Amino acid sequence: MNAVTLLDRTPPAAGCDRPVLKERGQREVFCGLTGIVWLHRKIQDAFFLVVGSRTCAHLIQSAAGVMIFAEPRFATAIIEERDLAGRADLHEELDTVVGRLLARRPDIKLLFLVGSCPSEVIKLDLNRAASRLDERLKDRVRVLAYSGSGIETTFTQGEDACLAALVPGMPTLSETAPAPLMVVGTLADVVEDRFKALFDGLGIPVVFLPPRRSRDLPAVGPNTRFLLAQPFLTDTARALEERGATHVAAAFPFGEEGTTAWLAAAARLYGVSEERFAEVTAPSRDRAKRAVARHRPALEGKSIFFFPDSQLEIPLARFLARELGMIPVEVGTPYLHRRHLADDLELLPHDVLVSEGQDVDKQLDRCRAARPDLVVCGLGLANPLEAEGITTKWSIELVFSPVHGYEHAGDLAELFARPLGRRDRLRV
Ligand code: SF4
Repeated sequence: MNAVTLLDRTPPAAGCDRPVLKERGQREVFCGLTGIVWLHRKIQDAFFLVVGSRTCAHLIQSAAGVMIFAEPRFATAIIEERDLAGRADLHEELDTVVGRLLARRPDIKLLFLVGSCPSEVIKLDLNRAASRLDERLKDRVRVLAYSGSGIETTFTQGEDACLAALVPGMPTLSETAPAPLMVVGTLADVVEDRFKALFDGLGIPVVFLPPRRSRDLPAVGPNTRFLLAQPFLTDTARALEERGATHVAAAFPFGEEGTTAWLAAAARLYGVSEERFAEVTAPSRDRAKRAVARHRPALEGKSIFFFPDSQLEIPLARFLARELGMIPVEVGTPYLHRRHLADDLELLPHDVLVSEGQDVDKQLDRCRAARPDLVVCGLGLANPLEAEGITTKWSIELVFSPVHGYEHAGDLAELFARPLGRRDRLRV
């Protein structure tokens, strides 16, 4: 593939028509509170107040344990038994907790009230609480709410819900103002800086959602075109479209090929010449190809099975199949947004089984029958599969690590090579 074919390329029709196995049954997933771990690092003046149980507090404490040496930017307001029994005014108690928090932490400029299973079970209306507090505290802090509940969700949906909650508060971009490209999805700062440098080189003005500081929320309007950096942002994309913005279809920026296709989609939109595109991207593309090639001997010809968890499964399988010669057996995803994933679906080998949703016992049977070399799955399935002698990779690690773009293509390949290397060493 080269820059000429990329810039000339017509994107596939939305909703590629490959068959998909749809399953509904018992699922093994983490809840959306997990997103706080990477969101609090990104939006540096935000605070995440989970309104939940001791279980919720344990989950985020253990997932983000590194924060014990710093002033944390998340906490849990515990719903006690007397609250569940309806013997306390929860809105009043929440106001007191928020008041104490803000008095102690003048650095907080954006406060998220994060719903959980317990707050949903008792039907605590956090949206109402957030609007009331937002109105009362508007000169001091913005207050928003979203749900990180684990009922019928996957762990990356926490980020989607959080970013969707930001959209109504974004300033309106005037119809006559030039519209920068908006990149949507939480990226590690180092990844964002590298993308910014590439867009600058291409002459494409760019803004990022979420921003590093809450006051820097980008403006949105009918001239806005946005590229998704993560494939799990269905609600955020819908909220942006409701404000007039248009989604730019592209493969996701994983690996050399995906990153080039993603940048090329923006380049087509902003009229960047083929020569300039090639000139700006060539050094990074070469580096990425070399970094990926180092891991090919460990991965080529190895079979891989994805259980549905992070919603990154389809773009990752495309990367592993096309750039590393791996053989995806089944690619499970919790939800399949055909329009957002149309380019990745088209590039994924056509004989690969794509499944949506989960019936975990049936899927485990298919996995055991296939005996893949590597299984990508959530934490709950990894230990039992390892005990059966099947090598696993935790899907959550793929979301916590910087894996987007050219400079991290080699790191992304290494994340899959490492467990196979460990297995081989243990066998010796
Ligand atoms: S939100 Fe639900 S699934 Fe997540 S930790 Fe709390 S109780 Fe558990």
